[in-house]
Amino acid sequence: MTWRNRDSWESWRDEYVFQRETKRARKRFNGWADHIRRRSERLSAHPIQPIEARLRDSVRPEWVGRRGFQNGYDTLEQRANGGLDIVGTGEFSMAGDADSELIRNGWGRMQSHGHRDSTAAASAHVVQATFGGTSASNTSMTRIVMAVAVIFSASVTHAQNAPLADHHQHLFSPALAASISPAPPAAPITPIGGAEMIAMLDAAGIKRAVVLSTAYIWEQGTRKVDNPAERLRADNDWTSQQVAKYPDRLIGFCGINPLKDYALAELARCAKDPNLRRGVKMHFGNSGVDYHDPQHLEQLRRVFRAANGYRMAIVVHMRASYSLKLAYGRDEARVFLDELVPAAPDVVIQIAHMAGGGAPNDQPAQQVLEVFAEAVAKGDPRTRQLYFDASGMNAQIKVPEEATLLVARMRQIGLPRILYGSDGATGGNAPPREAWAAFRTLPLTDAEFRTIIGNVPPYLR
Ligand SMILES: [Zn+2]
Repeated sequence: MTWRNRDSWESWRDEYVFQRETKRARKRFNGWADHIRRRSERLSAHPIQPIEARLRDSVRPEWVGRRGFQNGYDTLEQRANGGLDIVGTGEFSMAGDADSELIRNGWGRMQSHGHRDSTAAASAHVVQATFGGTSASNTSMTRIVMAVAVIFSASVTHAQNAPLADHHQHLFSPALAASISPAPPAAPITPIGGAEMIAMLDAAGIKRAVVLSTAYIWEQGTRKVDNPAERLRADNDWTSQQVAKYPDRLIGFCGINPLKDYALAELARCAKDPNLRRGVKMHFGNSGVDYHDPQHLEQLRRVFRAANGYRMAIVVHMRASYSLKLAYGRDEARVFLDELVPAAPDVVIQIAHMAGGGAPNDQPAQQVLEVFAEAVAKGDPRTRQLYFDASGMNAQIKVPEEATLLVARMRQIGLPRILYGSDGATGGNAPPREAWAAFRTLPLTDAEFRTIIGNVPPYLR
């Protein structure tokens, strides 16, 4: 931008004001940077104090009175001082450019994750922290108030408060919906196609959904239909067609009953379908998988190996059948880790519903999750590609003790491996918007929720 391009006095004046303000801002910044540098030099001889708390994007009230580091912004000076004294947390409302507002107030810089709109009015969580002295030489220092802030509830779209993807969703074809509908006078199951799914995702502010084909339901042992194999294939094709209409919103996964002799052929067919090739969903409960049947395990290993070969992610509803009263718990979790996981070392294995089946007070499922959480925490190499989807958990979330246990396990596993999912919006399951609202009531911190919101597993990258 040069002066010559200006065609009116007003724009010259604007340009002059802009340049003058830029120079002033730069001068102020350089002065501040010099000041920090000089102090850092004086302090660099001091030993580094142990970190007591690392300030993440939001600050917990219980950290007040302790010391911490600004995540990503810890300067030499902060380290020399053993961190920042955390003196309080609070809400901070800003209009205009939030970042410069903070600088103007001498509170330092804002750390933000996700969407930042410099023009929208925004409110932020702020911690005021001071550089505190840990040694005598520091006492003469001017206490500089720093702020760590994150836009918490900005007056922008709620997209930033919703997960980037719903990692466990289902469509229901008209044929399947009719087949699984209860007998009248109960209301029939309504089919859910791509358009209906998009409307539900829009209502929740969720961009993408992993649509797990429910075709395997046709091959459920107790469902007596003619030509189940043909119906299963037709349902996978129907899912593929729905996904094809919304390629940047819906990601289709193939659905199979792994115990059927044509499972490998169907997997191969899906691997060639651009709308189903990213992964496969198996429902061990629905398909009657018995962790203690050697033939089942042998067949499952074949399927896992094939999926690994096609680089298809594996989503497993691993909860053994309730109705068949098949064994499920600690031992079965070990069978899964020892016998099946090693057959698919290169792809994500996503454990659906945090290893449960959606029912509350499912102690076997809690045991399974405990085995996984311990294995992850121990750094067991077999857990490298394990992810856990927290879909269909509404019943557990409502029971405070279960919610607390769930959160403890999530922390043990590590929040980056927890994928949000709603599960199919039928049969009493909540649609994405309501399911996410229920999930938000879990006793997780804002920072932990933000991690879950931003999680994108390798198969979606
Ligand atoms: Zn599901």
